[in-house]
Amino acid sequence: MASQTVELLKEELPVEQQPLYLSSDIKTGLVLVDLVNGFCTVGAGNLAPREPDEQISISKMVEETVRLSKLFSEKKWPIFAFLDCHHPDVPEPPYPPHCIAGTDEANLVPDLQWLEDEPNATLRQKDCIDGFLGSIEKDGSNVFIDWVKNNQIKQVLVVGICTDICVLDFVSSALSARNRGFLSTLENVIVYPQACATFDLPLHVARNNKDVVAHPQELMHHIGLYLARGRGAKIASEVLFD
Ligand SMILES: [Zn+2]
Repeated sequence: MASQTVELLKEELPVEQQPLYLSSDIKTGLVLVDLVNGFCTVGAGNLAPREPDEQISISKMVEETVRLSKLFSEKKWPIFAFLDCHHPDVPEPPYPPHCIAGTDEANLVPDLQWLEDEPNATLRQKDCIDGFLGSIEKDGSNVFIDWVKNNQIKQVLVVGICTDICVLDFVSSALSARNRGFLSTLENVIVYPQACATFDLPLHVARNNKDVVAHPQELMHHIGLYLARGRGAKIASEVLFD
């Protein structure tokens, strides 16, 4: 898609952003959405980038997420990481098989694997798009709700992939749950675009393959943020620590 067109659409769909200042006065939790190889590591699987991708793996998302995770861990602030993970016999339409349990696709990216031993981090495997629904246990309890409650979290900072899919669905559900009183301590859900990304499937590629739909990366990332904001999320232009 021509970058001029993207710029015009961004003007038509503005996403208001503000700097986020974090301090220990407001209990903040960091939510990582699907920082797994199957989505972030070049060549790792059906839904991984096929070549180095600036938005996903080279400069932005993973690096920013690692930076934030280290700062949260130093401060002993809570971290919650969703990991997409599927049983080999249970497909997830419309997607091809991905992040199958027991494969490296379902593991955290190498730079975040230390979270597995991080006492302040809660890891949650999910076999659906929406991590909020993926947090429901067989007995009806919800691991994410319990995490917010047990840590008395007032705001969550959400990062990860894909901005317009798993991040958006989780944010939308968390906001609805908050509005219904399921997350009594939670005031704000904040999305940080620089640590979010989505995949790229340009129109000229989609045209040659009738099984796929075009998904222009920069525009869909923007639309994900626009919709998240429309649901009531705040969008952080930068994240600063006291
Ligand atoms: Zn999945």
